Amino acid sequence: MLILIDLDGTLINTVHPTWKPYKDGQEDCIIDNYLAQLPVFNGAREFLSSRKAKGDNIVVVSDSHYRYVNPICRMLGVECVSLADKPNTSKLYQYLDSHPNYKQELDNGDCFVIGDTRLDIELGRQIGAMTIWFLPYQITEEIKDERDGIGDEMLSKKYGPTFAAKTFDEMERIIDAPLANLYSIEATFANSTSYRAVRLNDNRYGDGSYVCIRCLARQEQGACDKYARADKYYIMSNPQRTQEFIRTLAEGISNYINQPALISQGWDYFTYLTDKRFTTPPNKMKDIFDSVETSVPKVQLLKWADNVHGSLREQNLYSDRQVFLQNYLSVECPIVTSIDMFGQEQQTALSLSGKNIIVLDDQLTTAATAWHVIRKLKEKGARNVLFIAMFQMILSVSNGMICPRCGKPMLIKIRRTDGHRFYSCTPPEYRGDGCGYIQDIPDQN
Ligand SMILES: [Zn+2]
Repeated sequence: MLILIDLDGTLINTVHPTWKPYKDGQEDCIIDNYLAQLPVFNGAREFLSSRKAKGDNIVVVSDSHYRYVNPICRMLGVECVSLADKPNTSKLYQYLDSHPNYKQELDNGDCFVIGDTRLDIELGRQIGAMTIWFLPYQITEEIKDERDGIGDEMLSKKYGPTFAAKTFDEMERIIDAPLANLYSIEATFANSTSYRAVRLNDNRYGDGSYVCIRCLARQEQGACDKYARADKYYIMSNPQRTQEFIRTLAEGISNYINQPALISQGWDYFTYLTDKRFTTPPNKMKDIFDSVETSVPKVQLLKWADNVHGSLREQNLYSDRQVFLQNYLSVECPIVTSIDMFGQEQQTALSLSGKNIIVLDDQLTTAATAWHVIRKLKEKGARNVLFIAMFQMILSVSNGMICPRCGKPMLIKIRRTDGHRFYSCTPPEYRGDGCGYIQDIPDQN
């Protein structure tokens, strides 16, 4: 395995701004004096020696100056690329070209890029490596840095790392068994089983209740590792999708919901974002929802108004999305029959008071739907809400491909009918400024 790992904030605790002059190479002599007291994270040295013992090649990839990076990496006993200018790939590729055995590992898919900022994730996605977003320190106001995304957990997650870890032990387990640690829907499509999810929000309230937002697969735009599943997102909306496809998708959801740590929290209802009247295929969501195997009782609680037209995706502003949702998406509890104290049948709406509810949706982009649904359920008295989106749309990353015909950058496109990927020098009729050249990307499964 080739491990390309960030230095500052990943192996050593130097995120505080006081380290900046050292990182910039301005105070090299002082670094020599302080090398022995360098704030190496607990577990970092053990992690490096354990990976080496397992035969991995480790290279530090850092934006900091070589006067700072080189002596530190000598001390840690690892190779390094300094002034890497992440997320640009040219310096890294230059290095890999002079180390053909490393390049081979990358080409074989045996490569991780690890780091604490979005720059590391972007770099990893561009070269097609698996990425681990690693955060071994506490985020404080002092260390936040907008350019690098230091301290911006949500931004790093929006860039769609393959994995996330907070300890070196967790990272070891991921590198030892990547397929078993993918997000649960990505895992079933890779013939594996996992209980993991992208953890986007964990909100706790004064009364002890909580709401969580989770995603079970990434829907990539542009370059990414091969486990991201934008192709499957498109197949989901294709009327020709197979039963086998629905079964695999539902299995990923079942695996996540039924894991002991989650199911033991006591869920009363499992519900989903119903299909609109004009959704194609009809029952797009219902068929998937019905295929999920769980002991949590399934009920239909959410309803799109019959007069809904258009879709949320056509609303560009977050505020427009909120208005759209407010107008058309509501909670409607089913009528249930119960026997009252006099033995008489009573018809009443199902009560959500104090109930814990799991909600399934197809895609998460801005989370407007998630928060709307959570608010509506809370208004009806729900206690804990777990909102699960099958696919998380992650931010776009360029792929570095240049059109051989006209020299313009090419985009990765996905054929909606079957999820097949290709490079496109997108012509004006598809809102691009390219020449229309297309280059196939072989399917990788
Ligand atoms: Zn072109």
